[in-house]
Amino acid sequence: MIKKLDKQLVADTLRQAYERCKSNTEGKNANYIPYLANIPSDLFGIAAALPDGEIITVGDTDYRFGIESVSKVPTALLAMNQYSGREVLEKIGADATGLPFNSIMAILLEKDHPSTPLVNAGAISACSMIKPQGDANSKWQSIINFISELTGSQVEVIEELYQSETATNFNNKSIAWLLKNYDRIYDDPDMALDIYTRQCSIGITTQQLAVMGATIANRGINPLTGRCVFKAELAPKIISMMATVGFYEHSGNWLFSTGLPAKTGVGGGILGVVPNIIGLAAFAPPLDDSGNSVKAQQALSYIVGHLNLNIFENGIYCNMDQKVSIEA
Ligand code: GLN
Repeated sequence: MIKKLDKQLVADTLRQAYERCKSNTEGKNANYIPYLANIPSDLFGIAAALPDGEIITVGDTDYRFGIESVSKVPTALLAMNQYSGREVLEKIGADATGLPFNSIMAILLEKDHPSTPLVNAGAISACSMIKPQGDANSKWQSIINFISELTGSQVEVIEELYQSETATNFNNKSIAWLLKNYDRIYDDPDMALDIYTRQCSIGITTQQLAVMGATIANRGINPLTGRCVFKAELAPKIISMMATVGFYEHSGNWLFSTGLPAKTGVGGGILGVVPNIIGLAAFAPPLDDSGNSVKAQQALSYIVGHLNLNIFENGIYCNMDQKVSIEA
């Protein structure tokens, strides 16, 4: 039973999603990081990247915004690629916390694991794992090069955002040292925290994010460069993590409503992956009370519903050139 995804249908659906959601003024920019509070709230972009490298965009998809927690996805993947999925599971975990992204309570409740690399605690722990150990600059190069390989184009830090986060990341400092107390930081805690803060401050466009999604959907082959970026067997591992905790305490509601494994960031971006089919991304700064972009959620939800991309449905898509019936 095979279903094919039509490119024109994807383009039309993105446009409809954009038109439907663009005037929604709900939500507020993140205000605990001063740089993010000042980003124009009406920016809005949606992008899709297909396995053949075609990119479909609508709106402000060239605007460079703070990747923030979406960066937890590439760093988790890199840690699994350098060690193994099993070792990351043992050292960090893969459980949903059911609590906010920066929860200290979650660490106290599960003191033997930081839960998952997709919340702050596990992400700081993952940064501490990145090789080579003990060398901040080389660790950082590994991360930024890996993210650039996933997007197929160079990414770099937004210096002003990095300064803004560094000046205000007191909660994350507590997390790093609390994890050290539980032997869940595998290098210097301050170094791990700084690398985490830097990775959150990377500027990325909605288009680049969609290509990252397509590389994951393609089991590690970047559709733009054709390069193999990570081991194929890690794709289902990272996608399962996104599904489990990508929206923090609202992850269940999101997955129930859309069936789209996705990861959000307080910069307003959301990365979605439909295995073997498509990478999706949307960006709009105003957030809901859990730190998830209101308009990006609305747009992706529309697209997934309209194109039947719910991963729990039976339909399987393979190539994008023509639309056919799903009857076998
Ligand atoms: N840098 C932010 C933080 O650590 C990222 C949070 C997010 O995007 N949810 O608080």
